[in-house]
Amino acid sequence: MAEILVLAEHDGESVKKVTIELVTLARRFGEPAVVWTGPGAEAAQAKLAEYGAAKVYVAAEPEFDDYVVAPKAELLAELAKEKSPAAVLLPNTAEGREVGGRLAVKTGWGLLTDVVGLEDDMTAEHVIFGGAINVMARVRTGTPIIAVRPNAIAPEPAAGPAVIEPVNYTASDESKQAKITDRVVQQRGARPELTEASIVVSGGRGVGSADNMAVIESLADSLGAAVGASRAVTDAGWYPHQFQVGQTGKTVSPQLYVAVGISGAIQHRAGMQTSKTIMVVNKDPEAPIFEVADFGLVGDAYQVVPELVAKLKK
Ligand SMILES: Cc1cc2nc3c(=O)[nH]c(=O)nc-3n(C[C@H](O)[C@H](O)[C@H](O)COP(=O)(O)OP(=O)(O)OC[C@H]3O[C@@H](n4cnc5c(N)ncnc54)[C@H](O)[C@@H]3O)c2cc1C
Repeated sequence: MAEILVLAEHDGESVKKVTIELVTLARRFGEPAVVWTGPGAEAAQAKLAEYGAAKVYVAAEPEFDDYVVAPKAELLAELAKEKSPAAVLLPNTAEGREVGGRLAVKTGWGLLTDVVGLEDDMTAEHVIFGGAINVMARVRTGTPIIAVRPNAIAPEPAAGPAVIEPVNYTASDESKQAKITDRVVQQRGARPELTEASIVVSGGRGVGSADNMAVIESLADSLGAAVGASRAVTDAGWYPHQFQVGQTGKTVSPQLYVAVGISGAIQHRAGMQTSKTIMVVNKDPEAPIFEVADFGLVGDAYQVVPELVAKLKK
């Protein structure tokens, strides 16, 4: 059976959820072979095995951490040449897309980004024009390189051996031209990371003030969710920009997206409309966000959200 190369996104100890989503997806098309860059593969081996990875190619040199994305693309291109995989799957994150673009240039293969689903013949469903249109597309040149949106695939366990195979790789001088000179660790609370979360609760201008975002946070905490915000909220300084969902913010695709006091502008929808279930709280029954809602509650957020939190706490 042909291999499907899956580029692992990880923090040096554990795999990001998107990696096991990709391994789950890869099983449909061949043998999932995870490509791990830098140290930490042993710690993550059990998790990768739990989700059916057949192999884990490990290039353990710590220098991957020093040189942005170019060495990763170079390593993948070398492995792709050697292993002749049936496809290469990457996370549709800023890094995954950049690695994909570089890999496409190196191999001459076709690349599809922002993919939210794959049919059996690897026809991909992906999102264009800021989320206004979904298209089906297929790579016609070479092996498909496919960047899949985090949370688009539900991870499903299926035991695999996840055999670690060390890879001899030395980064070329060309791939070492952009060096990371410093890292600033972002302070994070106990909430899940926005793009990885299974549940996201977002607040919009209808929330009314920066102080009221605490109500959104309490709803998020009672659901174990991440907090998001519309651009109206981040532009007003009510919540930090890194939590903005939408065309110019983060793209999320959780199992449940709760939008409170958000009108549903196309630019906001572009970042959340592939969520599996969308729940809306808005006092205006004509708000466009109801067009994409699975469940809608017409009401005042000040009243509805605290009641919801109280019920959830019970
Ligand atoms: C190039 C470009 C890029 C953009 N990128 C983004 C992006 O990435 N993300 C993004 O979000 N926006 C983006 N925008 C902005 C976008 O067009 C909208 O202006 C923005 O999404 C509106 O935010 P909102 O829904 O919170 O506010 P509003 O549109 O003002 O909607 C507020 C909603 O709250 C409801 N409401 C009011 N009071 C209450 C209450 N008490 N209880 C319940 N409901 C209430 C109202 O009925 C209304 O529907 C972009 C715009 C441009 C031009």
